[in-house]
Amino acid sequence: MTHNEPDRRVIDADAPQYNATLVKRVDLTDELGYFWVKFEGQATHFEPGQYMTTGVFADGKLIQRPYSVASAPAEAGTAGYELFVRLVPILRFTTLLWRLPLHHRMRMIGPKGRFLLEPNDNRTHLFVSTGTGIAPFISMIRQSMIDSQPRKTIMLNGVSFADELGYVPELESYEREGTYPLHYVPTVSRPSDPRNAGWQGRTGRVEAIVTDVCREYGLRPDRTVVYICGNPDMILNVERELMARGFPEFHVKKELYWPKGKDAALVGRSADAS
Ligand SMILES: Cc1cc2nc3c(=O)[nH]c(=O)nc-3n(C[C@H](O)[C@H](O)[C@H](O)COP(=O)(O)OP(=O)(O)OC[C@H]3O[C@@H](n4cnc5c(N)ncnc54)[C@H](O)[C@@H]3O)c2cc1C
Repeated sequence: MTHNEPDRRVIDADAPQYNATLVKRVDLTDELGYFWVKFEGQATHFEPGQYMTTGVFADGKLIQRPYSVASAPAEAGTAGYELFVRLVPILRFTTLLWRLPLHHRMRMIGPKGRFLLEPNDNRTHLFVSTGTGIAPFISMIRQSMIDSQPRKTIMLNGVSFADELGYVPELESYEREGTYPLHYVPTVSRPSDPRNAGWQGRTGRVEAIVTDVCREYGLRPDRTVVYICGNPDMILNVERELMARGFPEFHVKKELYWPKGKDAALVGRSADAS
């Protein structure tokens, strides 16, 4: 494993397996970006919460990874499948993605995944995530809006630094304008870091504040469904907190972005460990 070295691998401009194109990119920070990958032919249907696997050939070898789709399925076919990605500074896939020029061809397959909304579920939805783990929830909310089937939602998202919070204008506008029945609860885990100067919101890791959030919003175990996505340690910790509060296991759904024990500290940084 190589740490923080320049990525000199040659990305193959073309390959018979390529079936999609990187059509748009918006950087949030140096290490976080929104990427839109569009199928060249017919778009594939997916359900909110599912993921696609996308990648490129580098030095003749296909390197691809799964990503939750943030787009509403109704919009992904035309705008491209929106992905919210963190750069992990080891020479695997994300260092290639960061170097990929706009309009470069890619491979994309899918969808996969069972991290799905239940049909006609009128319980309150508690969405808990770290960093990029917010992506599937954005898809769920966007599609629920399009379908005029909003779900009462508490969205708890934790990051190390306030500038890493994704989708802030969109989420704040839902709440401010009442266009979606959502309470957006962002939290930063390193309040005393100078990068968080000026942050006036909540502080602490999501697992440390989830019980307070439940209490504050009156979330009852029998009337709440919980979805947790992102860092595996956070997921287990949040689940433990909720079990202690009486949430039955079957009211909790989980999507782990990497196997437990392989956290980002192994690659020399904290990343979405918040
Ligand atoms: C179902 C599923 C959905 C996923 N969706 C997303 C997504 O929407 N956005 C996203 O950025 N990643 C997502 N991932 C992770 C993604 O597939 C890659 O693992 C990640 O982009 C790093 O790729 P890499 O090839 O550079 O390093 P990899 O070899 O894949 O991972 C190396 C290490 O990087 C760390 N890591 C992986 N992903 C992240 C992350 N998101 N934040 C912080 N550290 C991480 C872990 O410690 C991991 O062991 C998802 C993973 C799964 C299984």
